[in-house]
Amino acid sequence: MSLVTDSPRLPCPVASDSFQRCLSPTCAATFDIGETHFRCPACGDLLDVVHDWNRLPVPSRLADFEKRWSTRNNPLDFSGVWRFRELLPFAPADRIVTIGEGQTLLQRADKVAEYVGLNPGGLSLQYEGMNPSGSFKDNGMTAAFTHARMVNASRVACASTGNTSAALAVYCSATDLGFRAIIFVGSGKIAYGKLAQALDHGALTIQIVGDFDDAMARVQQVADRLGVYLMNSVNPFRLEGQKTIIYRILEGLSWEVPDWIVVPGGNLGNSSAFGKALIELVHLGLIEHPPRLAVINAAGARTLDELVGKRSLSWLSGLPEMSKVDHYYGELDTGHVKASTIASAIEINRPVNLKKCLRALDFCQGVVSSASDQEIMDAKARVGAGGLGCEPASAAAVAGARRLVREGVIARSDRVVCILTGHQLKDPTATVAYHGTDQEQFDKILGSRGVQRAGFANRPIVVANELDDIIRAIALYSGERADA
Ligand SMILES: *Cc1c(COP(=O)(O)O)cnc(C)c1O
Ligand SMILES: [Zn+2]
Repeated sequence: MSLVTDSPRLPCPVASDSFQRCLSPTCAATFDIGETHFRCPACGDLLDVVHDWNRLPVPSRLADFEKRWSTRNNPLDFSGVWRFRELLPFAPADRIVTIGEGQTLLQRADKVAEYVGLNPGGLSLQYEGMNPSGSFKDNGMTAAFTHARMVNASRVACASTGNTSAALAVYCSATDLGFRAIIFVGSGKIAYGKLAQALDHGALTIQIVGDFDDAMARVQQVADRLGVYLMNSVNPFRLEGQKTIIYRILEGLSWEVPDWIVVPGGNLGNSSAFGKALIELVHLGLIEHPPRLAVINAAGARTLDELVGKRSLSWLSGLPEMSKVDHYYGELDTGHVKASTIASAIEINRPVNLKKCLRALDFCQGVVSSASDQEIMDAKARVGAGGLGCEPASAAAVAGARRLVREGVIARSDRVVCILTGHQLKDPTATVAYHGTDQEQFDKILGSRGVQRAGFANRPIVVANELDDIIRAIALYSGERADA
């Protein structure tokens, strides 16, 4: 049987002042922007996209990007990613694939600030749920699709806890460029809203028996064998797109740098991208110093927290002690420990971008913490009550910020931005189990994970279909008298 492969990838015909470079300082192999590797062919380490800033035009002030608000008719200026294109300058304009991603909101959230323990005005929520597929993943997808187009790829694949596959499916279906989506999901491990998107948008959906880490290992093998273009965050181009979340946060704060940026950590693509964005902004003199970064794991998938917090793994100028990582993974295997959390988007024990995240933590004086499923679901309810709904993984950022305030790491008076990575409707099962009256459902979805009470539940009131009963119930529960 012969394997079907894509047509050979042609190097990008366009001269570029960007290239790819191995993350390892002892290897530092470089590759043309038009090559497709996903990992360093020489040593297996991650790859970075590097820009030769001396040869590229970069605005002298970040505020100069605001000029593009008046030329929104141009799709590149409309995109919340590509209107910052000088800061991710790897693609010729006519290759860019955009569907209008990045129209996001930075909202001051005083009610949530109170819950977190911050002063009024101290907390803003960066709401990435407003992206076309409902999560921040679109920021990365637009950049990776652009690179896929530059190298003439047609079949694109990912393993996913859900949102990457949803984004992949949306970009394939929304563009008419001949892309075909292949997605790998672990069985029973994907929230319904996300699975619904993959199916509805027509992606070839392969459900394997196993979890995300298993699916991730398989998709890399399949990408190698079939020459399919890989869209996971091991793809360095995705991280280029995700850098723009930082630019939009700064824009939302009138270009002032907050004290903290708090982000949930799964595969650690976002935290890695944030670090790279901030390293470059400081290098370019566009900001003076970076904010501090806090990366929040779920307690049931706390590889980063364990390695950095307990086993003092650190960047060490690009030479972290990876033996500590191997040792920890060995322990997980021996103990048959699998990632387990209600926050399925961060239910990951072997984060692909671990090393790049260490770089980000090093540059931003970062800290790592983790939040239990109880803390995550409670924080999620407070976020919802504060006006912006999110999925459980996003709420980990808020729960983590709260913990860090209690521990005195974040000061009450600090200015903090939490990233709400994904939309509320991604995971309705978790939300309804938390708020609902069905105890069996609660026990199955949340109780089984150690969540004991829905402290902020907004229970629906069950009432007979009788007008008087309904009016009495409204009176009882809204604090009004029925005859008033
Ligand atoms: C992917 C995802 C995360 C985790 O981000 P990483 O870059 O993998 O660390 C968190 N929240 C949501 C909603 C996601 O979709
Ligand atoms: Zn290398």
